[in-house]
Amino acid sequence: MGLMDGKRGVIFGVANEKSIAWGVAQQLRSAGAELAFTFLNEALEKRVRPLAESLESKIILPCDVAVDDDIASVFKELERQWGTIDFVVHAVAFARREDLKNPFSQTSREGFALAMDVSAYSLVAMARFAIPLMPEGGSIVSMSYLGAVMAVPGYNVMGVAKAALESSVRYLAAELGKQNIRVNAVSAGPIKTLAASGIGNFNDKLHVMEERSPLGRTVTQEEVGKATLYLLSDLASGVTGEVHYVDSGFNISAG
Ligand code: NAD
Repeated sequence: MGLMDGKRGVIFGVANEKSIAWGVAQQLRSAGAELAFTFLNEALEKRVRPLAESLESKIILPCDVAVDDDIASVFKELERQWGTIDFVVHAVAFARREDLKNPFSQTSREGFALAMDVSAYSLVAMARFAIPLMPEGGSIVSMSYLGAVMAVPGYNVMGVAKAALESSVRYLAAELGKQNIRVNAVSAGPIKTLAASGIGNFNDKLHVMEERSPLGRTVTQEEVGKATLYLLSDLASGVTGEVHYVDSGFNISAG
């Protein structure tokens, strides 16, 4: 018996095989879950579709999380095909490159709003559409980073968006607990992905973590996947509103 046998859910955020969402998908599938995937645009569809199909996924849908109608269409299709779902993985984030490179005080109003919309508000919108599909309860997990609670050089507006994301996790958890819907975040250490390539001084972050974290190394996509699997599974049935650090213990020694 797999931990996720009989459970179905949707993963937002696979761009390629380096994506954290892909690490999560592999863990969920090997635990027996049935998966649906979304992709941002046609260029990414070419990468996401074969990956999703390699995990026997039959539901692979377009979705720009900045567009409510796109999110609504995804959940409508999940309802049509599955009726109900058990989990949602939110692993999407975006900020303009210049807002990650320039000094934080130079962040534009538009850039700030865009980062917040795609990286934080999208979780709230997803939860809203997921609730009717989780009549017996469910689990939602998002991806955060230490820059939510500390001023990490180069993380800038994304740190502000992650702070909003972590707060949204707590407010959603408080609201949805009575419906047995749990909402948590994983705060992952730095991993080389497409999104990470836009973050200023990213390689420095990897080296600092190797030098200063209690485990003396960076974490892997697989390790973030395993922690997410735990939070999505019944093993975490009493856990909600938490930010779960998967960062080699760096958060306790970063100062
Ligand atoms: P990634 O580039 O593989 O994934 C980011 C995803 O966001 C991509 O699939 C991209 O298509 C999607 N996306 C961006 N804008 C979108 C939009 N408008 N609509 C729909 N999808 C959109 O990079 P990743 O590092 O795997 O990022 C996944 C999550 O993990 C992000 O929330 C990121 O902030 C978080 N995270 C990453 C790290 C790291 O070091 N890589 C550390 C902690 C947290």
